[in-house]
Amino acid sequence: MFDTFLKGKTAVVTGSNSGIGLGVATELARAGCNVVLNSFTDRDEDHALAAALGKEHGVSARYIRADMSKGEDCRALIEQAGACDILVNNAGIQHVAPIPDFPVDKWDAIIAINLTSAFHTTAAALPVMRKAGWGRVVNIASAHGLTASPFKSAYVAAKHGVVGLTKVTALETAEEPITCNAICPGYVLTPLVEAQIPDTMKEYKMTREEVVRNVLLTRQPSKQFATVEEIGGTTVFLCSNAAAQITGTTISVDGGWTAL
Ligand code: NAD
Repeated sequence: MFDTFLKGKTAVVTGSNSGIGLGVATELARAGCNVVLNSFTDRDEDHALAAALGKEHGVSARYIRADMSKGEDCRALIEQAGACDILVNNAGIQHVAPIPDFPVDKWDAIIAINLTSAFHTTAAALPVMRKAGWGRVVNIASAHGLTASPFKSAYVAAKHGVVGLTKVTALETAEEPITCNAICPGYVLTPLVEAQIPDTMKEYKMTREEVVRNVLLTRQPSKQFATVEEIGGTTVFLCSNAAAQITGTTISVDGGWTAL
């Protein structure tokens, strides 16, 4: 659909050695972008993943280690990338517990990785985009950036914060050829979601299928997971010229969740 119109642009995708981040990086590479993959590990397989992605799509692809819980690492990621036409703030973690029992270290880590990292990377990337005269910031928020669920206090607070940061970034760049939007996925079957299934099966004494349909997808009217390719395709659309006047908003990819 979009061919290779992003040829030569450089996209930095945080938290992209698995799940949605990898799906987004893959679709951006398919559209012709050079891509920078990232996570906090520095394993041979991380670098091999980037090499394979670059080879498959005929683009330059690199892996840069940076821990998104640390502000200096977030800023160093953008600096080491050398260019940053497209920034996708995707890194995220989850923890589920009632507020009185919510471990403080988990609260701090979720706010740091899911929200504060996007502030640091955006602060470092905007001057680079301004110099290049073009830019796109895509924040991967969540249906939990627009609505809430019990026991996910830190995650819901962080994702609502990401939606707020998205609006401010858009207003501060409104007169420039730079846009900033948030994608709000419903449930996407990735390692982050997969990890929640065994505990939920035990807790509710349910089969995997029952957990998927009656717990995870209970608020997703389509009763289907969104896919990483769909989140990637939505990102590519937001980077297209057709989306030049779309800024400061959210796009839900949630099978109808937020229509309820
Ligand atoms: P995932 O666990 O598969 O991927 C998370 C990525 O973040 C991984 O690459 C991981 O290595 C990276 N990461 C974690 N901590 C990091 C750190 N300190 N520094 C750098 N990278 C770090 O999860 P996912 O489901 O692909 O989630 C990706 C994003 O999408 C998250 O922001 C998540 O909140 C959001 N999201 C996911 C869903 C879903 O249903 N899967 C729904 C809505 C939003």
